[in-house]
Amino acid sequence: MHLVRENLFIGNIGDAAEVLQNGSDEVTHILSVLSSASISFFSDWRSSLIIPTKEIKKVFAGGSGSTADSEDVGLTLIDVSKSCLSAEKLLYLLEYAGKDLKLVRMAVPIRDMESEDLLDYLEPCLDFIEKSRKEGSVLVHCFAGVSRSAAIITAYLMRSEHLSQEDALESLKQCCEFVCPNDGFLEQLKMFEEMGFKVDRDSNVYKRFRLKVLGDWYNRGEKIDSSKLAPDPGLPTELSSEVKTLQNGQTDHMLVYRCKKCRRIVASQANVVGHVPGEGESSFEWHKRRSGNPFNRDDEYECSSVFVEPLRWMKSVEEGAMEGKLSCAHCDARLGYFNWSGIQCSCGSWITPAFQLHKSRIDISSI
Ligand SMILES: [Zn+2]
Ligand SMILES: [Zn+2]
Repeated sequence: MHLVRENLFIGNIGDAAEVLQNGSDEVTHILSVLSSASISFFSDWRSSLIIPTKEIKKVFAGGSGSTADSEDVGLTLIDVSKSCLSAEKLLYLLEYAGKDLKLVRMAVPIRDMESEDLLDYLEPCLDFIEKSRKEGSVLVHCFAGVSRSAAIITAYLMRSEHLSQEDALESLKQCCEFVCPNDGFLEQLKMFEEMGFKVDRDSNVYKRFRLKVLGDWYNRGEKIDSSKLAPDPGLPTELSSEVKTLQNGQTDHMLVYRCKKCRRIVASQANVVGHVPGEGESSFEWHKRRSGNPFNRDDEYECSSVFVEPLRWMKSVEEGAMEGKLSCAHCDARLGYFNWSGIQCSCGSWITPAFQLHKSRIDISSI
């Protein structure tokens, strides 16, 4: 067990087992980051371990859960239609644990894999660390104390001390030299930094992350059903719920894209996943082709399409094809194309996966 900051320790499963079994003068709270949230993980690891627990509450991503106690820990509700989590996924378990049930343990189910979604669990974890340090002191542990716990503490240092991902990790290494979050976690911590030390599900950074996660699901053969697609802004009920979430004075500025032929709304500004024009590994050929026209620089980066998140009217996406046409849900006019393995925009950028609407087939208007 290593001290990182006042009232904040990092450790492995052995350190946590020791505290849970024999109690501790130092530690009052434990944050367990293991592949399973259940305390039985400890007895599966070492059968002699029997740790008493009493559930405080269980919280699922969709906001539902059970509460055995009136105590509440400042719970951050997640809008699952915008996150990478399904509503029934366990977000965390909170319980009293160990000798005389004196410890408070929060357990979050995260596997140590590069493709694992860390971002969606981050804020509840950081809030728990924050609160625990005020009430006592907290041990953050995973199995080896190298990747998962280190990633979460790095995020905590980033948020509480306004450090870049690199500086926070470097600072943690001063206390515990062998920490090494996996590359997928490091990438997500970088996004956390770009989002301003929070998980902003309306930001372009998060939308791109979610698209990548959807792409991973698709490549693993998981079915992309309508629950994983964004609400259809062309349906009055679904659009109104979106307008509601935008009601902080932004409603006036809400822009929508309509089918040029029949005027049906096909996407809102909030569905657009932006990219930097001309940025991307394969933009070279395009530059070469256009280099003969030095007076046309702006034009060179002109995007002839907008790219959006997959939406519920895109039936061909739900049917499971790798690529296909996107046709208007009302008049069937062809609006664009999708491809899970990516499409190159006219500006040269590769967007992967890509759900593309041709600007020539749509109009932009305010609602
Ligand atoms: Zn472009
Ligand atoms: Zn149409």
